[in-house]
Amino acid sequence: MAFVFPPQAQPSLAVAGSDDRIPVRRIFCIGRNYAAHAREMGRDPDREPPFFFFKPADAVVEDGATIAYPPQTQNLHFEGEMIVVIGKGGVNIAEANALEHVWGYGVGNDLTRRDLQNAAKDLGRPWDMGKGFDASAPIAPIHPVAQVGHPSRGGIRTLVNGVVKQDADLSDMIWSVPEMIAILSASMALKAGDVIMSGTPAGVGPLSPGDICEVQIDGLGSCTTTISAAG
Ligand code: MN
Repeated sequence: MAFVFPPQAQPSLAVAGSDDRIPVRRIFCIGRNYAAHAREMGRDPDREPPFFFFKPADAVVEDGATIAYPPQTQNLHFEGEMIVVIGKGGVNIAEANALEHVWGYGVGNDLTRRDLQNAAKDLGRPWDMGKGFDASAPIAPIHPVAQVGHPSRGGIRTLVNGVVKQDADLSDMIWSVPEMIAILSASMALKAGDVIMSGTPAGVGPLSPGDICEVQIDGLGSCTTTISAAG
């Protein structure tokens, strides 16, 4: 057997304080996981069942990267989020055991072509083109659970050119990490290398060429992305 063309390189994430890498399988993203953000998007946050969408694994980009303003949008948005990396797969994982399946945590940015996402919402169409575009998942080095435990509270902030745009606490999440893992694994098999972007607080807003966007989470460091002119 031979591949008819060379396979793409395995997408991967850096590990904090190590040269090791995490091979990325899938990127799940939860929608509206902070009540104040659900409200700013015009939704009732009262525990309506969570929903998820995907980004392709090769949408990941490193902390400190400069990315070109993406095509076909006039409204690129930042969404600062905590990243959860699954290290042990499973199906029908119980909430009580869910944290045993986590390898580590980090800081990321669910970059969004908001105009395309809103148009898709209006038409009842999928969000993929608004959410899953090239370089749409900046993710900083991941910290292993052995070093940072399981963060369930602590500040999460997003700054654009040094100005604070999002400022919330991880404890404001509507659906906890164990709940998300239980719900996802009831729907499909989770495997090592699956990544969960755990939702963004209120305060999302636009990025323009030349902007520097930094997401910070207490105890997990930061993820900085510079936006350059359209490629
Ligand atoms: Mn998001």
